Amino acid sequence: MSIVTHLGFPRIGAKRELKFALEAHWRGEADAQELPRIAADLRQRHWQLAREAGADVVPVNDFSLYDHVLDHAVLFDAVPDSHRPLLADDALAGYFALARGRQSGGHDLRALEMTKWFDTNYHYLVPELQRGQRFRLSGDKPLAHWREARELGHDARPVLLGPVSFLLLAKTVDGSERLDLLDALLPCYAELLGQLAAAGVEWVQLDEPCLVLDLDEAARKAYARAYAALAEVASPKRLLATYFGPLLDNLALVQSLPVHGLHVDLARAPQQLSAVLDSLPEGRVLSTGLIDGRNIWRADLDQALALAQRAHKAVGSEHLWLSSSCSLLHVPVDLAHETALAAPLKSWLAFARQKIAELAVVRCALDGEADSEAALNEARRARATRLLSPLVQKPAVRERAAAASAEHGQRQSTFAQRSIVQQQALQLPAFPTTTIGSFPQTGPVREARARHRKGSIDEAGYVDFLRAETERAVRAQEQIGLDVLVHGEFERNDMVEYFGEQLSGYAFTRNGWVQSYGSRCVKPPIIYGDVARPAPMTVEWSRYAQSLTPLPMKGMLTGPVTMLAWSFVRDDQQRAETCRQIALALRDEVLELEAAGIGIIQIDEPALREGLPLRRADWAAYLDWAVESFRLCANGVADATQIHTHMCYSEFNDIIEAVAAMDADVVSIETSRSRMELLDAFVRYRYPNGIGPGVYDIHSPRVPSEQEMLDLLRKARGLIPPQQLWVNPDCGLKTRDWPEVKAALEQMVAATRVLRAEL
Ligand code: GLN
Ligand code: ZN
Repeated sequence: MSIVTHLGFPRIGAKRELKFALEAHWRGEADAQELPRIAADLRQRHWQLAREAGADVVPVNDFSLYDHVLDHAVLFDAVPDSHRPLLADDALAGYFALARGRQSGGHDLRALEMTKWFDTNYHYLVPELQRGQRFRLSGDKPLAHWREARELGHDARPVLLGPVSFLLLAKTVDGSERLDLLDALLPCYAELLGQLAAAGVEWVQLDEPCLVLDLDEAARKAYARAYAALAEVASPKRLLATYFGPLLDNLALVQSLPVHGLHVDLARAPQQLSAVLDSLPEGRVLSTGLIDGRNIWRADLDQALALAQRAHKAVGSEHLWLSSSCSLLHVPVDLAHETALAAPLKSWLAFARQKIAELAVVRCALDGEADSEAALNEARRARATRLLSPLVQKPAVRERAAAASAEHGQRQSTFAQRSIVQQQALQLPAFPTTTIGSFPQTGPVREARARHRKGSIDEAGYVDFLRAETERAVRAQEQIGLDVLVHGEFERNDMVEYFGEQLSGYAFTRNGWVQSYGSRCVKPPIIYGDVARPAPMTVEWSRYAQSLTPLPMKGMLTGPVTMLAWSFVRDDQQRAETCRQIALALRDEVLELEAAGIGIIQIDEPALREGLPLRRADWAAYLDWAVESFRLCANGVADATQIHTHMCYSEFNDIIEAVAAMDADVVSIETSRSRMELLDAFVRYRYPNGIGPGVYDIHSPRVPSEQEMLDLLRKARGLIPPQQLWVNPDCGLKTRDWPEVKAALEQMVAATRVLRAEL
């Protein structure tokens, strides 16, 4: 009989139990045993839950207190020397110091860098390696967790990040080649596999998601070498797990590796099944990733079943596993906790637990069990209802999207022409100063929002409170001497949620938490239907803020690409199409802001770069529709209206053309930590429009001095023509406190005055 399993389970807990336990531990409020106890309890509950949902085998070692990549770095003793003493002294404290840094108890340790896990919104900690790095197996977590599961009677499979992906996801601090460390690393894997085999582990899962990326010759050779070496040692049977896309040109390499089983992603890449089956070596297990681990829709079980049947025909039930496409880490735990979701929508969804149950249905159907028909029918009905529902299908929205043409995304005049009109209208000084939008979300602001949500203050009281906060922010900005003001975003819980709540086609869960990193979770909105804007969203706030001051007030919106990237998206329509609908809904907001007398409108697109597909060959198509969406959203305004955009990062070298094609009048980016080096892409491209390179690192409470910011500004001035240069912090200030924000912005304005005097 084929096996039902999954590649990994969410760790944070349906009620974010791990988050709260971690935070209590970090605050020093929990006794030493509390965190391990809660962690073990979560593991055990999750195994039980997966078994009851229908899993035959549960993955173990997918659990982590903070991040699984960090766990591997610690397991192999691949940590910076600076952290070793603390790690030796107090393993848990050392582990969290690697994750979060530590400035107490006589330690001053920085955190490892964090970066996105492939194209998900999960972030992992980047192991730091160096030439001559030595590795050592320094723990037994995979085995210990396997034993824990076994004692509870579960058939379990330890999950390890494979050696080549581990190295490719790491960085070296001295510029040496990561893959040169493979020979040093492999003995650790060999030792670990040997321990697992000796303990009686039957299968181990080696995750090699890098196999879905473009690989160079060195990486391919590393794969061949690594897996040949591991085939020589005592080991459980090895399942090579690939996910997040098709194998494409890496398929032949993958099939040549000496492993006992292969997992492929058939949710993102169902079309690869034929090629995989055709090349699968005799006797190898095929783990079919049938159910989407990246999204929350109930599956099309007929399609999953058809794929499973084809695989079954080729490999037989002894060699077939039915699994999730990737780890279920990227979806919430259990739909059962969503008591407030509207009935039809809830019946369309599946979270981790429901996804395992779907696999169990596929297995029953594959085995021809009679009662599977009822479950299949139920799934068919739910899916059909969704696809045809008037909540989903809005003909007017679709017609409008179909009718929108490139012309609608074209400004009336060139930047050179319209910048003259804008300057006449705005009368800004040289090097205009501004901020990115949000001002501190202080305790009282968050409390007022919470009370409003619970209904303990009424709408009018809440609005009064927000108006007072807004006025305070406006006065503060006037006093500081900024040139272009913002209203402060006090009314916003989150830059995506705030808009999603006001757009139709978006829904929000109560408990749909997904881990972003460590204890940080997000609750991504669900885009379930055609997106429209029933009413203005920000106009009243902008109008009110503008009424308080003669200085220009910047309108503030989240752009279509970011609204899409940070949500669960529809699986019944291309992302490009959904993005276009969002763009048009936001376009109406832009035009209404303009009509309300808002002369500068900023449209944030921090997610543009992170939306880049994993394979280079797919970049151009993505950038085409992403840029087109931004243009549709932004560029319907008159010449006199100034469009800004903000992007939270500064690696622009490979997307600078796309950024230029957006044609925003001003783009602000993060440059303070790179000391303006990252302006380089704009300089080389001779980017023609306005640029606001951040001069103030908002990620730290530190107040930069006037001199520091002046140095940065002079550097920027040396790189780009003065009439293009704006002055602003790196990003929004919502995580900061007022005293430091005021002090830093005063220094920023003072630095700008010096720069102006040098003109
Ligand atoms: N306007 C938003 C803010 O200031 C931008 C945040 C972001 O780009 N992440 O908070
Ligand atoms: Zn930002």
